[in-house]
Amino acid sequence: MENRTLELPVIPLRNTVILPHATSPVDVGRPRSKAAVERASEGDRHVFLVTQKAPEVDEPAPEDLYDTGVLAAVKQVMRLPDGTLQVVVETKARARLLAYREERGYVAAAGELLEDPPTYDEALVRVLMRELKEAFERYVEAHKGLRLDRYKVEAVLGMVDPVRLPDVAAGYATWNVEDKMAVLETVGVENRLKKVLELLLRDLERFALDSKIAARVKEQMDANQREYYLREQMKAIQKELGGEDAAGEMLELRERIEASGMPDEVKEKALKELTRLERMQPGSPEATVARTYLDWLLDVPWTETSGDAIDIQLTRQVLDEDHYGLDEVKERILEFLAVRQLAEDDESYKGPILCLVGPPGVGKTSLGRSVARSMNRKFVRISLGGVRDEAEIRGHRRTYIGALPGKIIQAMKTAGVVNPVFLLDEIDKMASDWRGDPASAMLEVLDPEQNKTFTDHYLDVPYDLSRVFFITTANSLSTIPGPLRDRMEIIEIPGYTALEKEQIAKGFLWPRQLEAGQMKGRLAIEDAAIRRVIHEYTREAGVRELERQLAKLVRRAAKRYIENPWEGERRVAEADLPDYLGVPKYRPDKREDAPQVGAAQGLAWTPVGGALLTVEALAVPGKGNLKLTGNLGDVMKESAQAALSYLRSTASRWGLPEGFHTQWDLHVHVPEGATPKDGPSAGITIAVAIASALTGRPARMDWAMTGEVTLRGKVLAIGGLKEKLLAAHQSGIRQVILPAENEPQLAEVPEEVLCDLEVKLVEQVEEVLETVLLPAPEPTPPTDKPSLRPEA
Ligand code: ADP
Repeated sequence: MENRTLELPVIPLRNTVILPHATSPVDVGRPRSKAAVERASEGDRHVFLVTQKAPEVDEPAPEDLYDTGVLAAVKQVMRLPDGTLQVVVETKARARLLAYREERGYVAAAGELLEDPPTYDEALVRVLMRELKEAFERYVEAHKGLRLDRYKVEAVLGMVDPVRLPDVAAGYATWNVEDKMAVLETVGVENRLKKVLELLLRDLERFALDSKIAARVKEQMDANQREYYLREQMKAIQKELGGEDAAGEMLELRERIEASGMPDEVKEKALKELTRLERMQPGSPEATVARTYLDWLLDVPWTETSGDAIDIQLTRQVLDEDHYGLDEVKERILEFLAVRQLAEDDESYKGPILCLVGPPGVGKTSLGRSVARSMNRKFVRISLGGVRDEAEIRGHRRTYIGALPGKIIQAMKTAGVVNPVFLLDEIDKMASDWRGDPASAMLEVLDPEQNKTFTDHYLDVPYDLSRVFFITTANSLSTIPGPLRDRMEIIEIPGYTALEKEQIAKGFLWPRQLEAGQMKGRLAIEDAAIRRVIHEYTREAGVRELERQLAKLVRRAAKRYIENPWEGERRVAEADLPDYLGVPKYRPDKREDAPQVGAAQGLAWTPVGGALLTVEALAVPGKGNLKLTGNLGDVMKESAQAALSYLRSTASRWGLPEGFHTQWDLHVHVPEGATPKDGPSAGITIAVAIASALTGRPARMDWAMTGEVTLRGKVLAIGGLKEKLLAAHQSGIRQVILPAENEPQLAEVPEEVLCDLEVKLVEQVEEVLETVLLPAPEPTPPTDKPSLRPEA
């Protein structure tokens, strides 16, 4: 191989490679390039064309240029008005540039021509040429952006020179600088044919892939278009049939279903229903039913959430902000939440449900609300009081006329999120009278194993309740069915003392009512007046009635203010209360507590708090019958029997004649109010009433008592001690008799209540009788004219 060396002016090219054997226009604008062209025109018109590695460099140094370039002849130069030269070059041969030299105004380079070896494998070259031409033809055909004139293609296909063929073919290809440089740098006929063939085949593969993708995209587009077209048509038809809105409505429904985030299974069902609806006569009853159903599916939340994680600090703060006292209750709630938080990520954790138990108005609902607020979650509540039918929880099947979802789903719709705090009020009231088993439906709602797929009969698709934070409330534990109770973490709230109520009223209820009544700054209340409201206008364990009375007071004041505005703040004093609230309903000091024959003052527990109860007994000549009336359960009957048996066995001690029980009929009456469940604790009270009736000895009514009695006169412990003492205190009782066995629980009773009470702890009924029964006015035991109390 013979290499010739030449020295020629250099024209650097940007973004382009011109291969040998081509005639090509080149715009020359840079001063050094222009000078190079001029220099060439003066000589033998030859130049080196070399491509820049980085097109943005204006005055490229040698290292900015590729090593390989081409030898070209300047065929024609035309000066354009802007000074640029349009040059036509004819490229001849490859050249390796070896050294550069700065001349006057231009750059010259010394280079040697790269010539192909003169001999080659003719058979191989023939095959390569054929394949290259074939590939080139397919390339031109498949290449969307390349619009090559047919004659040029024919020219390539007709070429016989294996040296020129690859260069010319590559010259037409739309390759980048790297690809074309690769061709330029390839020396040797076979090598170059292979290189260009390889590049062509590479592109053909790409085109095939592209068109496959394109075909798929097109297919999809066609399908969409078809659907769109059909839908438009249907819209038009529906418009004809049922007026404008129907069509738009269907379209809107479809969009809402797509956007709702329903699980696939539900979405499928919704779309099916929609298709049915589209075929129905708009406005027909069946269309209304289908439409209502779809609205329900769309209105319950499927993905929306509210709120943050549990933050114990924040919850404590919120609970304190909203509630006075209740320290132990708040502590228990926080503990419960802490455990829940720790178990947050534990899928297998089956936490219990919080259940707040206590009389009305002690803040159960509002504690639930605070928990929601502290977590920034939506809050909903439903009352289960009086729910007898499973359908109220789960809804009715759609086949019923006017069917609707049950309370659970209705509340979820109200919540609008999948994770609200959900308060189930009065869960004890539901179970007490059940039909169709609402309790087992509730069990499913509250069971983490099952509530992921809660089914409402109306919705008829599984609905996930597992992210709901359920809290339940109840007045009494005893009426919650066992399986439900087992799932719950019970927190008891017993009721407030008068002092606590006063603090709650001052700190919470009164300011809230002032705000609600727009009377802030115009009305104030004296502490003594609040106390009087508590004592004389309400009698309750909680503060609900207290809140109502304060609300009433503010409303009355507001009305007066409107009629007759005043300056500054008007103060409500104790003596003003009748003016606002009417005559007091309760007068503790006026309580009837003169001693009475045939009566006794008992203390009872009820679901709405503690209460006083007066047991009455009447003895009339007869044959020893025992008659019981009023709110008496079997347990109370047993108490009465036990009391009677005790009196018989100790008859002489109480001055009762031998065999008195066969000569007298006894009638024991317990007024409404105390629940039968509480029966045993009235034992000693019944004993006192009977003893008093039989002996004629008056019983002191300023002592209130509670305690179970055995046949042999032993006094046993009772429950609900705190509630009972709160009630006694509130009613103005100052002396109580309690079973000695209950002494430890006295520690739970607020100090302010205990210090007002004289407590007598007893072990035997005789201690009770001795304390309460006064000597008979006439020393004779019951005669044929015993002391009677009228029947209530
Ligand atoms: P429940 O649900 O136990 O029947 P609520 O939560 O409805 O009782 O309470 C009745 C009213 O008394 C509500 O306005 C509540 O905010 C208020 N309340 C109850 N306890 C407290 C308390 N400890 N501090 C402040 N407000 C209280």
